[in-house]
Amino acid sequence: GTLRSRCCKVRCVAAPAQEVTTGVKRNENIGKLQAGYLFPEIGRRRRAHQEKNPDAKIISLGIGDTTEPVPKSIADAMQKAAAGLATLEGYSGYGAEQGRGEVRQAICDRFYSHVGRKANEIFVSDGSKCDIGRLQMMFGASTSVAVQDPSYPVYVDSSVIMGMTDGYDESSKGFGKLEYMVCRPENDFFPDLSNARRTDLIFFCNPNNPTGAAATRKQLEELVAFARKNGSIIIYDAAYAIYISDPERPQSIFEIPGAEECALETCSFSKYAGFTGVRLGWTVVPEQLRYSDGFPVINDFNRIMTTVFNGASVVAQAGGFACLQDEGFKEMQELVAFYKENAAILRTTFKELGFSVYGGEDAPYVWVGFPGKPSWDVFAEILERCNIVTTPGSGFGPAGEGFVRASAFGHREDILEAVERFKKEFGGR
Ligand code: PLP
Repeated sequence: GTLRSRCCKVRCVAAPAQEVTTGVKRNENIGKLQAGYLFPEIGRRRRAHQEKNPDAKIISLGIGDTTEPVPKSIADAMQKAAAGLATLEGYSGYGAEQGRGEVRQAICDRFYSHVGRKANEIFVSDGSKCDIGRLQMMFGASTSVAVQDPSYPVYVDSSVIMGMTDGYDESSKGFGKLEYMVCRPENDFFPDLSNARRTDLIFFCNPNNPTGAAATRKQLEELVAFARKNGSIIIYDAAYAIYISDPERPQSIFEIPGAEECALETCSFSKYAGFTGVRLGWTVVPEQLRYSDGFPVINDFNRIMTTVFNGASVVAQAGGFACLQDEGFKEMQELVAFYKENAAILRTTFKELGFSVYGGEDAPYVWVGFPGKPSWDVFAEILERCNIVTTPGSGFGPAGEGFVRASAFGHREDILEAVERFKKEFGGR
């Protein structure tokens, strides 16, 4: 009422000048974050470009959201579960905070029992991003953190919010106290662990978003040995594991012997079955994973999940369960294969145009090099010349400079149109 009209009379900008404030001091850790989170900034530039060019048909290879419908048997299962809620027999209220037993078992049977994990170690959730936040809450502000550079921005930003880092340093383009493990073509996109500082936690995204690189077995053995030697815990993000083509590249960290004593793994149906809006994921915490005093990490994660989470939606869980049945699993693999074809189309095009191209074989992201050019300039040039939105590599960390990420999530016709535009604009470069 009055407060708002008063503020709007004064000045309607992001932080309106206002006479009345609360006595609450802002969390100074949130204040350390850099103003423009990557994707809102991309959205802003896209809108500006559209305003300047109202007729332009902009194609987005940017944010990495899924575009294709949820497969039939999976959507049907959710529809049935939702309709059931309107009946006495089909109604259910709160479920177990850890997820329905049959869903935990089905995830285990499909992905983990062959590597020694058990259903009780699997926590079903509303997604991996949310689990990352809860893991940060569990480990607390006094843990030290390493991330791959470049990587999914959530590891860095949630660490900053928790207070695990110092402020942003303009010269290094990074946050103080955070260990950035550089992953570039020169080191096969795998960190030089012989020169990495010890940290309590190591966020490791494999296949990596944004580079699309998937580590070999030998590389993951090296990572596990490094964590075990240092007494670190690997937070292994397998959100794109199903996209791995090469049978020599592990799909789970638990394929590496000894990982159960130094790693937990988070994963998601988002990019497996188009569940970015449905919301369903899981985290695996092995019983053998212990704190320095011998206390099981799984007990604390259970405590966190029962305290600040109340179980994933029963409708979403019905969908997840259907993903893991034979029919749904096949449909899910076909969906993944479709996006992988998109990735192959993009990869081939950039290669033919003479760019240095990485990723796209074991991941839905293609990482294209523009050596010596600032990523944001490349982003702007591609938007200007092709009406195509990409993601500037520097948004994923300082070592992403000189690259842009192209996402393979898109309708086929848009991917084909995009490659035609690239060929036209960059063909004779
Ligand atoms: N982890 C990585 C590496 C991702 O790229 C994403 C989504 O883009 C997520 C986690 C988030 O997954 P969810 O939708 O399950 O929260």
